[in-house]
Amino acid sequence: MQTENYLIRKSSLEKLFGNLIGNGKIVYAPKAKGNLALFDKVQAFGEITEDYIVTANSAKSVTFPRTEKLFSYHKSKESTEITDAANNTFPDVILWGTRPCDAAAFIPLTETFNGDFQDIIYNKRREKVLILSFSCKRSDEYCFCTSVNSGPGNTAGSDVQFTKLSDGDYLAEVITEKGQLLVKENCNLFEAKPEEDKEPNLAIVATRFNQEEIQAKLQNLFENPVWDDKSRACLGCGSCSYVCPVCSCFDIQDEAHGNKGTRLRCWDSCGYGLFTMHTSGHNPRNTQGGRWRQRILHKFLYMPNKSKVAGCVGCGRCSRSCPADINILDTLTSLQEEKPNE
Ligand code: SF4
Ligand code: SF4
Repeated sequence: MQTENYLIRKSSLEKLFGNLIGNGKIVYAPKAKGNLALFDKVQAFGEITEDYIVTANSAKSVTFPRTEKLFSYHKSKESTEITDAANNTFPDVILWGTRPCDAAAFIPLTETFNGDFQDIIYNKRREKVLILSFSCKRSDEYCFCTSVNSGPGNTAGSDVQFTKLSDGDYLAEVITEKGQLLVKENCNLFEAKPEEDKEPNLAIVATRFNQEEIQAKLQNLFENPVWDDKSRACLGCGSCSYVCPVCSCFDIQDEAHGNKGTRLRCWDSCGYGLFTMHTSGHNPRNTQGGRWRQRILHKFLYMPNKSKVAGCVGCGRCSRSCPADINILDTLTSLQEEKPNE
């Protein structure tokens, strides 16, 4: 649909939040915790912080929980009884205050869960999510959204995007039918579109590399010293995957107690040494360099080759959270200088 623009006053934004809570919606929004901002459930408008570039955690856990119970089982000699199977009935959730990069991240995340296999649980959760993003007025040295075909005012993935204008009121861009429904249900809060343009109210994020050039280069960089060089300090802690809004690796584990237990789906990370360990003891990715290469190739070669969308939205979280100060932007910019293998 064609984007519709409105003005929403600051006071009306608070009323909109109140209406959503009043209608029983579950709202996740950035909340201050120490010197971090974290996506969390909120009940009151006053709990939401505006003081963040991106939240330390991403919003992906709303559709892809960190640990998810799939079912319980009870084995007997004759049979296995399955109970408490995930029932596909999920509540309406509002993501309030996602940045454009986080909203855009749901595009590759949803692609992944709808590749060779359609993940019903993920899709049912995703259907129930309304994304109200807020464009970026600030960025830092870790942000590189403009290098991955996005930007501080990118509306892809959002249902409605709000941009704070110079007088403190907001431009509301309505992008999807879900967003249109929100406006219809709260029509007294939305006014005729403002005169002021969006662009001067956005952060400036320098373009640091060309994604298509990196993709072409990676075709011939499987064997290259850059992978060991850039990952030498890696501790294999997995933080980069856990904070990433696009990373989707998971493991299925049984929490067993005798003949009964619970089957769980849990986040996993290609940065872990055991991630590709075979039962034979052979590990095809037996060095941190091999694991770092896989992370970059998956996001910047395999995913765009398969679905035309990169597995990275340039939020910079992985670099901000890395205890070893490994910076994905540093790897990507240095790849530009690398000569492909013959
Ligand atoms: S966060 Fe840093 S140290 Fe941890 S696995 Fe990722 S790159 Fe390695
Ligand atoms: S790889 Fe890093 S910069 Fe890219 S989306 Fe994931 S966390 Fe953000």
